[in-house]
Amino acid sequence: MQSVPQIDKPTLSIVVPLFNERQHVPLLLEALSEVISTIELPAELILVDDGSTDGTWESISRQDAQIFSLRAVRLSRNFGKEGAIRVGIESAEGDAVVIMDGDLQHPPQLIVEMIRLWRDEGFEIVDTVKKERGEESLFYKFCAKAFYWLINKFSGVNLKSSSDFKLLDRKAVEALLTMRESTMFFRGMTAWLGFKHTAIPFSVPKRVAGKSSWTFRGLAKLFLDNIVSFSSVPLQIVSAVGALFLLFALGLAVQTLSLYARGEAVTGFTSVILLQLIIGSCVLLGLGVIGMYVATIYEEVKGRPRYIVSEKITRERLFKTKYSDDSLDSQQVGNIG
Ligand code: UDP
Ligand code: MG
Repeated sequence: MQSVPQIDKPTLSIVVPLFNERQHVPLLLEALSEVISTIELPAELILVDDGSTDGTWESISRQDAQIFSLRAVRLSRNFGKEGAIRVGIESAEGDAVVIMDGDLQHPPQLIVEMIRLWRDEGFEIVDTVKKERGEESLFYKFCAKAFYWLINKFSGVNLKSSSDFKLLDRKAVEALLTMRESTMFFRGMTAWLGFKHTAIPFSVPKRVAGKSSWTFRGLAKLFLDNIVSFSSVPLQIVSAVGALFLLFALGLAVQTLSLYARGEAVTGFTSVILLQLIIGSCVLLGLGVIGMYVATIYEEVKGRPRYIVSEKITRERLFKTKYSDDSLDSQQVGNIG
């Protein structure tokens, strides 16, 4: 009986979240095959279909594994990019895990340099930073700037120009997986981890097809979720505003009482109504900020799963390459659909 050849454990895992990227799937696989053939490491590609409705899953199912193993996970609905990244990282087995977008806006050729920095120079996290932000509207650029400035001020984590295109050493992956919060903020969480970091600059190319799935509402939610998950400064601001108002109120009380004692008390509807409105708005804003934290606590306490998997595909590597072990058959070694 012929023994089934043992496939070596992948050293490199590439995780790609995909949401309505049908047109990109074949292009992505082609580009990654080219890159992986130049890196002398056994690799696996993990595609996470984040509830696409455009036939992305069917497109993935048609793909063959070639010089890398292909694993695909289909989520039961759209859970958002952060959830999809989490699924991919949890299933990755490699000693290094590269996370990248599926729309080819993260140039696959950079992986070669990322691997070099990890393998030869011992960096445990290789980030990529955007040299310029590609084709984004002025408003989007402004919001992104304001967001990173606030995150930096509030939490001390500097994320300026950072992207989700990263290489993580197994150590960093294990550390990331110990972070149990249900609202992931991949970029921020990897910055928070520490480890030996380096960054490669890159220019964001145009999307090959389709359009970005971000909406203004989606970005606003991401902004608030991430500020809340990364910092409690907004709560302290509420207290600070309260303290300022108390000081102001004390000053005003002293002035009003002294005027009253002298029989010169200020009369007037305008000042009273203005004070009412200002204080009322501040109280409501404060409650809103507290409400955001309560909502986050509520989400965490519910402890729902971060995602639900509906289907999986595993296709083992098909072809022997110069780095495969000798026991690997030169042709097909298994194709589990
Ligand atoms: N993505 C995802 N789930 C979503 C939204 C996006 O998995 O709900 C994936 C998308 O398929 C792509 C990556 O996340 O691979 C980046 O998305 P997009 O290009 O829309 O964002 P941008 O490049 O504009 O930041
Ligand atoms: Mg994109």
